[in-house]
Amino acid sequence: MKTYHIITIGCQMNKSDSERLAGRLEQNGYKKTDNKYQADLIVVNTCGVRQSAEDRIYGLIPGIKKANQKAKIVLTGCLAARQDVKNRLKDYVDEWLPISEIFNFQFSIFKQTLIFNFQANAKCKNDYLKIIPKYESEFSAFVPIGNGCNNFCSYCVVPYARGREVYRPVEDILAEVKELVKKNYKEIILIAQNVNSYKSQIPNPNNQTNSKSQIKNSKNKIIDFSDLLKMVNGIQGDFWLRFMTSHPKDMSDKLIETMVDCEKVCHQVHLPAQAGDDEVLASMNRKYKIADYVELVGKIRSILNDQIPITNNQTNSKFQVPNSKQSLWKQPVSITTDLIVGFPTETKRRFANTAKLMRQIKFDMAYIAKYSARPETAAAKMQDNVSTVEKKRREQILMKILRKTALENNKKYLGKIMKVLVEGESKSEEWAGRTATNKNVKFPSASWRTNDKNNLIGKFVNVKIIKAQDFGLAGELIS
Ligand code: SF4
Repeated sequence: MKTYHIITIGCQMNKSDSERLAGRLEQNGYKKTDNKYQADLIVVNTCGVRQSAEDRIYGLIPGIKKANQKAKIVLTGCLAARQDVKNRLKDYVDEWLPISEIFNFQFSIFKQTLIFNFQANAKCKNDYLKIIPKYESEFSAFVPIGNGCNNFCSYCVVPYARGREVYRPVEDILAEVKELVKKNYKEIILIAQNVNSYKSQIPNPNNQTNSKSQIKNSKNKIIDFSDLLKMVNGIQGDFWLRFMTSHPKDMSDKLIETMVDCEKVCHQVHLPAQAGDDEVLASMNRKYKIADYVELVGKIRSILNDQIPITNNQTNSKFQVPNSKQSLWKQPVSITTDLIVGFPTETKRRFANTAKLMRQIKFDMAYIAKYSARPETAAAKMQDNVSTVEKKRREQILMKILRKTALENNKKYLGKIMKVLVEGESKSEEWAGRTATNKNVKFPSASWRTNDKNNLIGKFVNVKIIKAQDFGLAGELIS
């Protein structure tokens, strides 16, 4: 039996794509191996969002090819269409596979046994989302609701690498989630580059939602992301529902209200700010101002902080299992973000505005990236005039603020009893999991371990929080 090994670099979308690729390979008789030096087929799913992610493959791929000369190497993901990458790696890569072509590609791999001559078929673009994936986790799953992006933020390569937005029919998404819930999955994460832009036709009993006539006749029957969320929330079962990523310009009041109404939807919002200065945001083509962003976060907090249902008998509450003294605690919604430091137009004064935004919002988490120019993007034509040293300095300043605000936020959990989804064991022999607000929680495992080492993994438990750190909580199991 032929073996495969997939190396995934980058975001959740890439991870999800790799699960679909693995599903296709296994359906066609390939077997996974963890050893890349023994695999017959190695697929590298690349990321082109930062130079650092791109640089990883230049050492990795030649190294694998030298150590495992019999293997066929396929490169997919964001860098698969870049001519300069092709030139640089032409001696090591056997095939360049646009991710949306997995549907076509599988026939050439499997029916012609590693002879690569797949026929690109425009009709199949994004049909790869129909492939039944092989999920990495047995209790938490990414469910893609679409692919691509129309926003063209000036620094971002995604609209070039993945193309324009295409969304999955609602019935495909519901069918995938139902299947997962049937298998006892506890966490469903709906993903797309911009989930808030989701649009689909109403489900059709005849399952022909993509037909031209139906699209023509479907005026006023469009489902948006809030509607989709409600429909997924309505699926029977005990699971958490998350989504990412939301563009601030598209985060509607309707969606915020829907989050309140849907008891399975976790009160965690990932809302990339990217910068805290209006002029930088304008040159990033982000289409909102800082005042809009601050107002939006205020609205999210005022609506989602205050309407958390807490009663003494809600032992399955998604947020908190209150004890008698703390039953009125209102758990804050968790706000996380992405920020770029050293964007070409970011002067020291403008950077100070980003630091100010961080102090003001008090993010629970921020993913801070140092700017690097990406080929084809509008920002690549600007002068990358902030030095590497200065970018590092700015990153450190933001990290310091983040540590402080995250710790402040985490201290609010002290003494509370939280519902936690257990994901595994940490290195220090503790169970590790997350709250609905995506806070990492550790708690001792020794006294709870039975013969079945995995007895808590993938299960909801209640943990009393006794320690707060900047990026995590520690507690003790109470049930
Ligand atoms: S919204 Fe902007 S940053 Fe996000 S994928 Fe689209 S272009 Fe890139």
